[in-house]
Amino acid sequence: MEFRSLKKQYAANKEQIDAAIARVINDANFISGSQVKELEEKLADYVGVKHCITCANGTDALSLALMTWEIGEGDAVFVPDFTFFSSGEVVSFAGATPIFVDVEYDTCNIDPDKLEIAIKSVLEDGTLKPKVIVAVDLFGQPADYPRIREVADKYNLLILEDGAQGFGGAIGEKKACSFGDISTTSFFPMKPLGCYGDGGAVFTDNDEWADLIRSYCVHGKGTMKYDNVRIGMNSRLDTMQAAILLAKFDVFINAEINEVNAIVDLYTELLSKKQDYRIKLPFIRKGFTSSWAQYTIKLSGKKERDDLQKQLKLNDVPSFVYYPKAMHEQQAFKYLNGKNRIFDCSVTNELCNEVLSLPLSPYMEQGEVARVVELILGFWV
Ligand SMILES: *Cc1c(COP(=O)(O)O)cnc(C)c1O
Repeated sequence: MEFRSLKKQYAANKEQIDAAIARVINDANFISGSQVKELEEKLADYVGVKHCITCANGTDALSLALMTWEIGEGDAVFVPDFTFFSSGEVVSFAGATPIFVDVEYDTCNIDPDKLEIAIKSVLEDGTLKPKVIVAVDLFGQPADYPRIREVADKYNLLILEDGAQGFGGAIGEKKACSFGDISTTSFFPMKPLGCYGDGGAVFTDNDEWADLIRSYCVHGKGTMKYDNVRIGMNSRLDTMQAAILLAKFDVFINAEINEVNAIVDLYTELLSKKQDYRIKLPFIRKGFTSSWAQYTIKLSGKKERDDLQKQLKLNDVPSFVYYPKAMHEQQAFKYLNGKNRIFDCSVTNELCNEVLSLPLSPYMEQGEVARVVELILGFWV
C-alpha cells in the first residue's frame, strides 16, 4: 500500500501530464515559460488574492516573505512548536529569533491564548521586537485565523500563513493561502497539490510586496534581469513543474478534494463504529474545511503509538509520525541558548508521543481503508 498514492494519481491522469511535459521539452522553454504565468493566474484566482508568485519550494516562499518585510536581527517571530522544521528554520536563516508557541490539542494548530501570553512576555522582556506570527495550517486545516488576526491587530504584528499543507482548505467560503498578510504554499510531491519535484508559491493582496517578492526571487532584479537592485536569491518554479501543476490543478479542485473527503469520512465512520477510547480521531473546527494533507490519529502514549506503527508495518501498511520532535527541542535551535525563552509547550510534547498519520489520498480504495482500520481495531484484541 502506498502512503499517498502518487503512482495511482499518475496512472489516472497520465495523458494530460505526459502531454504537458512533452510540450515543455518540445518548446525548450524550461525557465519562465508561459505556463508559469498561467499557473500563477489560476492559483491567485482560486485562492481569491491579487497576486501569486511561484518559487522554487515552500521554504523559499517563507523566506521571501520575511525578506520582503525586512525581518532580521532583533526581531521576534512567533512560530508553532509543533510543525515542520522549515516554519522556524527560515526565521533563524533571516537572522531573527523564533519564539515557539504551543498548539491546541484538538487541531494541532497554534494556540491563540498561548500566543498572546508569549507576545506579552517578549514585550515585557524588551530585548526583542515582536514582528510576525507564522501560523501553520497543519495537516490541511487552517489555523484559527479569526482569533489570530485579533491578536495580530492588538499588537500590530504581521501574519505569515504557512499553507504548505493547507492549499485547498477554507474557512467558510474563504480559501486557505488568503489568511496571511502574506501566505505561502509548497508543491512538494506529497502535499495536497504536488508537482514532480520541488515547488512553492507566495500569495498576497499587497502590490508593493508582490513586486518585491518578484524581485527577490530573481536575484533582486530591477527593471530587468541584469539590473540588480537588491540582494536576492534564485528561486523560480521551473516551466516543467508549472506545466505538471496546470495538468493536475483542475483534477485537484474538481475531483480530488471531494474524493479525499470521502476517504476521510469512510475512515472516520469505520474507526468510530468500534470507537475505542484510546484512539482520538482528527478534529475539524465548525465552518473549517481541511485539504487533508494528513489523516492523523492520536494514541494514548508513545509506546502504544510505536507498537501500533510496527504492527501496521508488519502488514505492509505505511504510516508516519508527523512530528516526533518539538521545534524547541531541535538541536539546530540550541544556539539560541534560552534567548528565545521557552514557554509552556506541554501540548506539543504530548502530541509528539501520540500522533500517527495513516495512508491517505484521493486515489485510495475503500478496501484499503477497511484494511487499515481492521488492523488498527484488531491491535488491542
Ligand atoms: C512541507 C512544508 C514546508 C516546506 O516546503 P518545501 O517545499 O519542502 O520547502 C514548510 N512548512 C510546512 C508546514 C510544511 O509541511
